[in-house]
Amino acid sequence: MLLSTRNAHKLREFERLTGGRLVVDPLPDDVTLPPEDGASFAENALGKARAAAQATGRVAIADDSGIEAAALDGRPGIYSARYAGPDASDGDNLAKLLREAPAGSALQYVCAIAYVDPASGEQRVFEGHCSGTLAARPSGDGGFGYDPAFLPDDELPGGIGGRTMAELSDAEKDSISHRGRALRELVSWLDG
Ligand code: IMP
Repeated sequence: MLLSTRNAHKLREFERLTGGRLVVDPLPDDVTLPPEDGASFAENALGKARAAAQATGRVAIADDSGIEAAALDGRPGIYSARYAGPDASDGDNLAKLLREAPAGSALQYVCAIAYVDPASGEQRVFEGHCSGTLAARPSGDGGFGYDPAFLPDDELPGGIGGRTMAELSDAEKDSISHRGRALRELVSWLDG
């Protein structure tokens, strides 16, 4: 199947998350993706998967994800990638979140993965969540985006020890992440 993204990092993460069971190809260069202007993660993911499926005739999956801060009524949500402006870096977005939400306040990562089969017309969306709290200051250099300030609520077999998402190993992050959870839902549905 196709993964409707041009982000090589996401492609690798998807293959890693399914232990190689899903073979995903990147989006061909000539396929244009729609703007991410839906009202929800699910709408944005569906728009990207539909565009790829229609253009190629192949089964396509696409994801959309972000972070919701309880203290900010759920912002930045679907605007997470451009929270500090259209060309904002991960660091700019993280600094803005740390300025606007208090340390210790509740956060939630959300990921929607859409599946579109152009032959049968089947369309599905799978959602995964990961709850946590905002750290007082960033720590760790793994992961990406808001990970250095995200303290997961989940426990891990070896203990989480107050580590941020950016201080976990890839395997630890995959086991609790919103993307890992959404993808496992998709895989279990595909397995029937
Ligand atoms: P998109 O799904 O590519 O539209 O990007 C969503 C944005 O949400 C990213 O640019 C990050 O800022 C944030 N985000 C989504 N998932 C994660 C994650 O696992 N860790 C940190 N930030 C994330």
